[in-house]
Amino acid sequence: MTHMTNQAASAVAAADPEVWPILQAEEQRQHETLELIASENHVSRAVREVVGSVFTNKYAEGYPGRRYYGGCQNMDAIEELARSRARQLFHCDHVNVQPHSGSQANAAVYLAVLQPGDTILSLDLAHGGHLSHGLKVNMSGLLYHIVGYGVDAETEQIDFSVLRKLAREHKPKLIISGASAYPRTLDFETFSEIAAEVDAVHMADIAHIAGMVAVGLHPSPVPSADFVTSTTHKTLRGPRGGLIMCKADFAKKIDSRIFPGSQGGPLMHCVAGKAVAFGEALKPEFKIYQQRILDNARALADAMTAAGNRMVSGGTDTHLMLVDLRSNYPEVTGRMAEDWLGLANIVVNKNMIPFDKRKPMETSGLRIGTPALTTRGLDEDCMRTIAQLIDRVLRSGGEAATVEAVKREVMAMCDQYPLP
Ligand SMILES: *Cc1c(COP(=O)(O)O)cnc(C)c1O
Repeated sequence: MTHMTNQAASAVAAADPEVWPILQAEEQRQHETLELIASENHVSRAVREVVGSVFTNKYAEGYPGRRYYGGCQNMDAIEELARSRARQLFHCDHVNVQPHSGSQANAAVYLAVLQPGDTILSLDLAHGGHLSHGLKVNMSGLLYHIVGYGVDAETEQIDFSVLRKLAREHKPKLIISGASAYPRTLDFETFSEIAAEVDAVHMADIAHIAGMVAVGLHPSPVPSADFVTSTTHKTLRGPRGGLIMCKADFAKKIDSRIFPGSQGGPLMHCVAGKAVAFGEALKPEFKIYQQRILDNARALADAMTAAGNRMVSGGTDTHLMLVDLRSNYPEVTGRMAEDWLGLANIVVNKNMIPFDKRKPMETSGLRIGTPALTTRGLDEDCMRTIAQLIDRVLRSGGEAATVEAVKREVMAMCDQYPLP
């Protein structure tokens, strides 16, 4: 099978007979499943190569030109390249490419602008927010006072008149825009206006939509927000990691809150992977890729709707959708749907829908996204087929013969679309 690491050429195969089969199994799994988790993607061979390279050997605490270790000339070169490509990609004044993850990027912003006990106004987790925006057991929820805003019960979209009222009432120091499960365009300018009205800082977290923002297919918060944070491994299709963008006057402060404020040595193999991924994102093909993600998401949402499903907020403007399972399959929870589809090699995640009456481990929704399958080259016709396959599994109530039949079709489809 061409997608597998070559055993004869693999150092792992020769050195570690316990790790090797697990690596093989994961390559196999990724090849023969349809990856519809909205936050996942498949990086290029070039990104994988630098992430697995000698860059992993080096300590480089500090920043280019100001390191705490010798031998950093190539670290400086690669980090400078990553930074200049990110500035070109997002048109920002300053960028820090060292955050180990999206959550670390957010934590550094909190450390830069908040004192413990200060108020953050952020999207409720149950309405699509992220755990690093104020989950009680996350450092954000442990250290700061969290006030949540939700979506409107009717439109299932953010209602800015409610947000403005909450901002005036609670006087937050920080307002966070951005989400993990919100299918609609975010109006970052209005967030910035409201933040300015109450003297709050606006942090936009574009972890999910960074790829679309980079190519202009989603409005950018860079001109209006004080801080923009992101992951690099979702629609941006880079290595696992984070980044922070801000205006020049916050540059020193934010850099110091990453190192030494909250991290030690940067993961230079990931910084190198970011440089490669940003280079890829600057090419014209990347814009075509992002447009295909959106076309595929729309095709999938339309086909799911045609099969009788209700989409939260009525559809999608982005790479993801939330399916309200109650409309078509009232007895089926998100957990059951995730399990059954998983047995048919269709990988999705259960998700709370706004005003969900089921518990977070059960849920009434599924979150479905198209970035990973679009990377493999699947098109809108495939999406319509996938909608039918999903519907067959859920309608059957997870019946074994149906699941098995769907799995065979899925594996045949996967064979036509090799991994990068
Ligand atoms: C994925 C995500 C993050 C953080 O990701 P990590 O798993 O910490 O890299 C932060 N914010 C939002 C909105 C996200 O969706």
